[in-house]
Amino acid sequence: MTAQAKVDKLKEITNIAEKRGIFFPTAEIYGGKAGFYTYGHLGKLLKNRFENLWRSYFLEENFWEIEGNSILPSQVFEASGHLKNFNDPLTECKSCHFRFRADQFVEDALKIKAEGLSIEDLDKLIKENKLKCPRCGGQLTKAEWFNMMFPITIGAAGSKDISYLSPETAQNPYLSFKREFEALRKKLPFGLAMIGKAFRNEISPRQLFFRLREFTQAEVQIFFDPEEIDACTEWKKISSYKLLLQSVKDRKGDKVQEISCEDANKKLKLPKMYLYYMQKMQRFYLEELKIPKKDFRFYELSEEERAFYNKYHWDVYLNLEALGGFKEVAGLHYRGDYDLGAHQKHSKKELAVFLEEKKKKVLPHVLELSFGVDRNIFALLDIFFRVEKERNLFAFPSSLAPIEVGVFPLVRKDGLAEKAQTVNDELCKVGIRSFYDEDGSIGRRYRRVDEIGTPFAVTIDYDTMKDGTVTVRERDSMKQKRVKIAELAKSLK
Ligand code: ATP
Repeated sequence: MTAQAKVDKLKEITNIAEKRGIFFPTAEIYGGKAGFYTYGHLGKLLKNRFENLWRSYFLEENFWEIEGNSILPSQVFEASGHLKNFNDPLTECKSCHFRFRADQFVEDALKIKAEGLSIEDLDKLIKENKLKCPRCGGQLTKAEWFNMMFPITIGAAGSKDISYLSPETAQNPYLSFKREFEALRKKLPFGLAMIGKAFRNEISPRQLFFRLREFTQAEVQIFFDPEEIDACTEWKKISSYKLLLQSVKDRKGDKVQEISCEDANKKLKLPKMYLYYMQKMQRFYLEELKIPKKDFRFYELSEEERAFYNKYHWDVYLNLEALGGFKEVAGLHYRGDYDLGAHQKHSKKELAVFLEEKKKKVLPHVLELSFGVDRNIFALLDIFFRVEKERNLFAFPSSLAPIEVGVFPLVRKDGLAEKAQTVNDELCKVGIRSFYDEDGSIGRRYRRVDEIGTPFAVTIDYDTMKDGTVTVRERDSMKQKRVKIAELAKSLK
């Protein structure tokens, strides 16, 4: 895809999104603020459908959803290390004072990977390559660390009680661990999931809502006995499943290996439990979200790129044409006992637990499945967007489409509109998300539902009044067939 084609695709998606109520900048009437977007009525439906699919897929036996808080006390982030380490490298133009994230700036300018580089290395690259401010050509300051959390004051004016907007949902399950362990019959493993807001004061929010300052995460924290990391009750079922992996070594030449779980266990030394969740995540993308295989890969982070406590860290990368290639949308992190250990130390409350069945005490380890909901929504918009001769459309799978069926009378008169409304009501009653539209020519109504990714359109015409049948048009093929109203819901389902 050429650079111009990328710009055009991003523009097209944005135009449709803003015009049809998928997403738009927040507080637009006041000029908006970078990094904040609102989901309109269709975007919210799409997001809800994604989140519900995610819930029904990942909340397996003994996995539960909780709802914690967005605001958490500073002690939490002292313990988690965010206050000290949740920093991005910042550089500023000495002339126009525009501020950049130094690693992203170097990545864009030199087309290399710069995430995880030290401040010294970033400064060296900027100096050696004589990089200047891309806005005005001015000199850049030395890079410095910038903490990305938003502090907020709790209590009345003058209060010194500083808390923070949480930059990830993960802390809530760690803080709830002991309570939930007790409530869930004192057994491991169990999973605590949370879908909630995360806040990061990103230096360079960009690429629409791919890098936001307020965003939604869907995460599961799995607490388990560390001895179980290489155990998997489902191993026989999954061992021959082929994963799509780009290890650090495969980066050269941009290779992706298709490798069975069995071989990944033996050759890449990835533990069985980790592999079970890798295949589960891959299946979610390929089978549930219907992402084409060529657009999916797991991307291994090098030791310098991953957090020191993550023993294994592979991210899910999807091919996003509008953003120029493969980008991170989710991750699978084996965090060891870092989180519970840190909270145990700082709170001075014991978080190690006694396992009756095994007659031993353990500080559980954590495996984290982390998804950025907004990035996934962006990916769906990018991957399913099609430009055809006479129409633009989102070819969403039915399980994700914000609206499943459009119901149209061919014309408003002769009782067709009333009949169409009755058909629409009946579809809604049986849980099909349909909507009624009588405005404009039938051709234009088809284009409108195509544009928002609606898989089916039902038209009520004069034959309907005679023989009780309607026309069902399928979005992708545009093929039509006659179906009896009595069988319509069943046929659509
Ligand atoms: P990046 O390297 O792109 O900054 P990250 O590795 O810091 O992301 P994590 O802390 O692992 O991200 O967060 C988990 C998920 O949350 C990411 O995979 C991504 O989907 C999402 N995410 C992180 N930062 C943002 C953001 N600023 N805007 C939207 N989604 C985000």
